[in-house]
Amino acid sequence: MREEIFMKMAVDIALENVLTNRGGPFGAVIVRNGHLISIGRNQVTAKNDPTAHAEVEAIRAACKYLNRYQLTGCELYTSCEPCPMCLGAIYWARLKYIYYAGTSQDAAQAGFEDQYIYHQFTLPKQKRSIPMIHIPTDNTYEPFNAWSHQPHKKGY
Ligand SMILES: [Zn+2]
Repeated sequence: MREEIFMKMAVDIALENVLTNRGGPFGAVIVRNGHLISIGRNQVTAKNDPTAHAEVEAIRAACKYLNRYQLTGCELYTSCEPCPMCLGAIYWARLKYIYYAGTSQDAAQAGFEDQYIYHQFTLPKQKRSIPMIHIPTDNTYEPFNAWSHQPHKKGY
């Protein structure tokens, strides 16, 4: 089955990432019209970048390859269920399907905080572990007003 081949590829990338000590146990690939267009591996520690998750890396590479900022019609295969950040990036990228092998429970057992962050999102803002403080200013709406009147904007 085609899906299983790409899924195994994502898991192999994750395994190779660990065995070569390049980063966390996560890999991802993006496929368009049945063709592999990008791969991503977790590079958080290698790049000192907390956003360098496999899925985000694969999305960045696919967008660069296609020279566009949305991946409409593309499929993502990831070695593990996406964390909240990656899931958000996947929605922004407008991917068509998410295939995953491991679950967020598997990630939690390996010491990763996906489930903890998912839970934080369900809490009221004032109950989350990172305080989120609303400070409206007199220019809060100026960027939105400018955007709505910008004739040359590129919507996304
Ligand atoms: Zn992630």
